Amino acid sequence: MTSHAAPNHPSATDEVVDICRDLLLIDTSNTGDNATSAGERVAAEYVAGQLAEVGITSELRESAPGRTSLVARIPGTDPGRGALLVHGHLDVVPADASEWSVHPFSGELRDGYLWGRGAIDMKDFDAMVLAVVRQWQRTGVRPPRDIVLAYTADEEAGGDYGAHFLVDRHRELFDGCTEAIGEVGGFSYSVNDDLRLYLIQTAEKGLDWLRLHAKGRPGHGSMVHDDNAVTALAEAVARVGRHSFPVVLTPTVRTFLEQVSELLGIEFDPNDPELAIAKLGPIANIVGATIRNTANPTRLEAGYKDNVIPGRASATIDCRSLPGQSELLLEQLRQVIGPEIEVEYTHRQPAVETTFDGDLVDAMSAALRAEDPGARPVPYMLSGGTDAKAFERLGIRCFGFAPLRLPADLNFSALFHGIDERVPVDGLQFGVRVLDRFLRGS
Ligand SMILES: [Zn+2]
Repeated sequence: MTSHAAPNHPSATDEVVDICRDLLLIDTSNTGDNATSAGERVAAEYVAGQLAEVGITSELRESAPGRTSLVARIPGTDPGRGALLVHGHLDVVPADASEWSVHPFSGELRDGYLWGRGAIDMKDFDAMVLAVVRQWQRTGVRPPRDIVLAYTADEEAGGDYGAHFLVDRHRELFDGCTEAIGEVGGFSYSVNDDLRLYLIQTAEKGLDWLRLHAKGRPGHGSMVHDDNAVTALAEAVARVGRHSFPVVLTPTVRTFLEQVSELLGIEFDPNDPELAIAKLGPIANIVGATIRNTANPTRLEAGYKDNVIPGRASATIDCRSLPGQSELLLEQLRQVIGPEIEVEYTHRQPAVETTFDGDLVDAMSAALRAEDPGARPVPYMLSGGTDAKAFERLGIRCFGFAPLRLPADLNFSALFHGIDERVPVDGLQFGVRVLDRFLRGS
């Protein structure tokens, strides 16, 4: 930290560990069902308490009982500038304690790591932001522009009860916000002792969930039958599952692959990017899904009795589209599925993409380099989705920047929603120092 803690108060780098631990102790499992999801209100009230203690007022907004999000505004020295939104979600995906080495909601500190569901997705960032702004308040630091803090519910189930609810019903809370940072980016990937890539998210794929419906003639299972809805659906689903869409390199992915290949000394052929991707080790699975549209069958529904041929059968396909390709994906898919099958959207959120340039990107890069001279920030595309999809609807330019320096041998992407999720304590403290510099300089 460039400033010192006020007398009798811990510094932000000390406090971040306690705050992250407190948050990990609150079970905020999001089951996708309001009746069984829990803890978001407790977590939001905890954050409100931490902010109130240093004199920051916050607004709590509830989309359904217990599904609570928090928004707070910290005034900057130049109110004429657009505000920066800093957002993190409070919910986590459920965890099965029997699979873990420690209890997933015990906030255990062991071997230099804080363990628990949400340790990297994303109570680590929630805690870093709190630690930084608390220290600022205590020492009289004011940011250059307004900072809007958003702690959301329901990100892990698509954000209808969190970020999308806030944007639909309480958009005035984000007045003046022009740019945003949140997950999933800012983490390091070690090339060697002197060089670490920091993947900054500038794009994320769109979400196009489709349901296929096959219709046929209902009948008795013992008879000869040539119009069976289950057969027709199964054929279509199998074709979709085996289909591979053509490679399309968007500006973000192309830049990423060019830069990373050069740094790693790998040959990059734009006509065959998979050759280079295969050599990327642990980040290959992050990048692999961002060079084409994808469609994965995930659910099947048909029938009600062993000897009755149903008149209808349905399947769900989880499609993810590259920026600007949602319509094309549907067209391509219709060709694969054939004319007999009906297609409907159950959920659709367009992809998000911005450019890797400008003052905010410069501030991220400068903050990373100041704390890690071996840092090389590179833009990348996330194949999944985040709350950025909601905030982008307000015209806000969104980045994934939750800075975290990781040990070279940690398989970071496997920890997302994984067993034994944990965050290195020194990585958390690194994140606090980078965020403090970045937010002061943004
Ligand atoms: Zn997350």
